[in-house]
Amino acid sequence: MTAVATETSAVVPVLAFGVAVSRVEELSPSYRRITFSGESLRRFGVDGPTLDLRIKVMIPSLGADGQRLPLPPFGVPVGRTSTGVAVELGGGWYQQWLAMDPAERGSMRTYTVREFRPAAGALEAELDVDFVLHFDAEGNGGPASCWAAAAGPGDEVTIIGPNVEAAQCATAKAYGGIEWRPGLASHVLLAGDETALPAIAAILESLPEDMTGNAVLEVPDAADFQDIRSAADVQIAWLARGDRPHGELLSEAVRTAVVVPGAGLAEVAGEDPEEVDVDRTILWETTTGSTRPFYAWIAGEAAVIRELRRYLVRDVGVDRKQVAFMGYWRAGKAEL
Ligand SMILES: Cc1cc2nc3c(=O)[nH]c(=O)nc-3n(C[C@H](O)[C@H](O)[C@H](O)COP(=O)(O)OP(=O)(O)OC[C@H]3O[C@@H](n4cnc5c(N)ncnc54)[C@H](O)[C@@H]3O)c2cc1C
Repeated sequence: MTAVATETSAVVPVLAFGVAVSRVEELSPSYRRITFSGESLRRFGVDGPTLDLRIKVMIPSLGADGQRLPLPPFGVPVGRTSTGVAVELGGGWYQQWLAMDPAERGSMRTYTVREFRPAAGALEAELDVDFVLHFDAEGNGGPASCWAAAAGPGDEVTIIGPNVEAAQCATAKAYGGIEWRPGLASHVLLAGDETALPAIAAILESLPEDMTGNAVLEVPDAADFQDIRSAADVQIAWLARGDRPHGELLSEAVRTAVVVPGAGLAEVAGEDPEEVDVDRTILWETTTGSTRPFYAWIAGEAAVIRELRRYLVRDVGVDRKQVAFMGYWRAGKAEL
């Protein structure tokens, strides 16, 4: 694979990386860990741990013959995005991509970098993404889930993510893909469903020893529990959903971890947060950093997160500057 350097004067924060699957690991019934590599990843990265770093994965469309179509060219320099090429995204690239035939342009989906290992000597850079394999009762899944379930070494995708050169200069914040901002907090709550597990695991692995708190993770099955190592004094509670409604166990666990002050005295601790229609809007409320000892990071199905937002803000009275509430997906709605 050859690295193709992009001629540019200004350092742009976002690049499109042509990568190929180098390994697949069956983590558990609901997860496949897909490792991507390619010379292009020499230009990928952030300044520090990846935490909950989000990326876009462009999934190639399926052709009439059941084979994957090549992804369309986008960005500059144009040309088929292939392994080894990091491409600058020109202005308006997203609109141009949206204007293409939906049957051929591929699908753009949001994922978390579970782990990024930069190139070291002869070793290529590698990027792990843990894909949740979600399928309905008829066995239908979204484009990303279907792609991930069948992916094997050599399969190509394009990843849109941070330019490591920008991460190390003044434009570092321009990519904006990291929301974990505990600020001054020393006690944290991390809560999420299976889509948030890769982010929560990466965050936990990076926490310092003097951080305390709780992590609650709701996953489909007890076989999806993972071994997460953290230097921090954070208690990890695993919840196996089984036949319970999505988010029910998670909500109960958050209510146990963060209790309403003066419960039983009919006090109303905080104001009602404004309604968010999770079918029309993305529920995404983050903070620039907690200025208090407590910080919470909560992500998963949007209606579940909306309900937890009401609980924490209205019932408990948590200041919204102390919490990140993120609807990672919405039941019944494709990402795009
Ligand atoms: C910042 C961020 C980070 C994310 N990180 C990860 C990650 O690391 N790993 C990961 O697996 N997901 C992650 N997600 C969630 C992922 O983007 C969505 O699940 C996405 O919808 C999957 O695309 P798809 O093509 O499979 O399904 P879509 O085409 O988007 O949806 C098809 C149908 O499947 C339903 N659906 C979507 N996701 C799920 C699910 N998890 N369980 C059940 N039904 C679902 C939809 O409601 C819809 O009805 C992340 C999302 C965000 C915003």
